[in-house]
Amino acid sequence: MSNVITYKTEEEIARLRTSAQLVGKTLAEVGKRIEPGVSTLDLDNLAEEFIRDNGAIPAFKNYQPKFDDRPFPCSLCVSVNEEVVHGFALADKVLQEGDIVSIDCGVLKDGYYGDSAYTFSVGEVSSKKKKLLEVTKASLMKGIEKAIEGNRLGEISNAIQKHAELYGFSVVREMVGHGVGTHLHEPPEVPNYGRRRSGPRLKAGMVLAIEPMINMGRRHISIAEDGWTVFASDHQPSAHFEHMIVIRNGAPEILTTFGFIENN
Ligand code: MG
Ligand code: MG
Repeated sequence: MSNVITYKTEEEIARLRTSAQLVGKTLAEVGKRIEPGVSTLDLDNLAEEFIRDNGAIPAFKNYQPKFDDRPFPCSLCVSVNEEVVHGFALADKVLQEGDIVSIDCGVLKDGYYGDSAYTFSVGEVSSKKKKLLEVTKASLMKGIEKAIEGNRLGEISNAIQKHAELYGFSVVREMVGHGVGTHLHEPPEVPNYGRRRSGPRLKAGMVLAIEPMINMGRRHISIAEDGWTVFASDHQPSAHFEHMIVIRNGAPEILTTFGFIENN
């Protein structure tokens, strides 16, 4: 990944919106099937079929960040409870009542990527898990509000961190949001913590995936033996919400949507 930020044209923004909306629809299709007893592999198969039926490609499948990395084997990242991100979908990884499950989905359509994540409850979850989901999603929205043209990127990061820590939760530091365009991960990095007066200046045409990963316990993470799954080192639950936004007419516009999930 080069470190040059690209600013998208109106035509590119339209394509990114199409991809982003397809991710929103895919997440909702998956969400309808989430219940105790469902296998995460079934969710993955459903997502892959839906994405391909809509003329796109699942962006995560066989994704290989570095030459010698093991390619990611699934269409979705399915991360349950203490898993933070990059969990596998497996036939014997079955959702249980009281779990929280983060579904991260990426698509490639007409050369442009969409990327969004949502953490779902499985049946009834504890009030503390509910709070974690509510606060993580709210921290994302607080960050988005700061994506104003002329602000420094650190305003977004700082707003996310402040909100999460206000409730005693902690911010994962090692994993960050990113630019999106003709590559799934483009500059700049979008940390979920940091100082307000840091980072690049936000400009019109920047497209960012903002994605807080918030732990109920301590912030530290470990990587599982599969080489991919990131989990909270203290095994406490973790939540993840992600939107893609564009800075346009001075302000943030959300390209993805949770509307298909929450309004049905
Ligand atoms: Mg994502
Ligand atoms: Mg992302």
